[in-house]
Amino acid sequence: MENEKKTILDHIAVAVSDLEKGLTLYVQLLGLDHEGTEEVPEQRVRAALLRAGATRIELVEPTGPDSPIARFIERSGEGLHHIAFQVGHIESALEKLKAHGVRLIDEAPRQGVEGSRIAFVHPSATGGVLIELVQK
Ligand code: ZN
Repeated sequence: MENEKKTILDHIAVAVSDLEKGLTLYVQLLGLDHEGTEEVPEQRVRAALLRAGATRIELVEPTGPDSPIARFIERSGEGLHHIAFQVGHIESALEKLKAHGVRLIDEAPRQGVEGSRIAFVHPSATGGVLIELVQK
């Protein structure tokens, strides 16, 4: 069953103010494969996905000053932004967290990159780590 699929690390996201500069570092200098870049208008970001073995690095660049990533960079500077786990069934994962009183940013899944559905868990409930759940 889809529900019984093991959770795996899908990607680690890094907030960057200049995507081209980020790609130079991670692709040209560090040797990761660039799988593609996609704009997510709903989140006002451009995201580049870089293959790193079994997982990926996601470079996220804000496309406007009202982007959550722009606010993050303004507050904390560039750097690690979130880790994303791929789950078999995102609604069940959210239900389980909710039932245990874990604070969520997204009560319901929304649109992510590559047609995936995503939801964020609030870092105040996870020891300061912004966690994204992804269902492909
Ligand atoms: Zn992500």
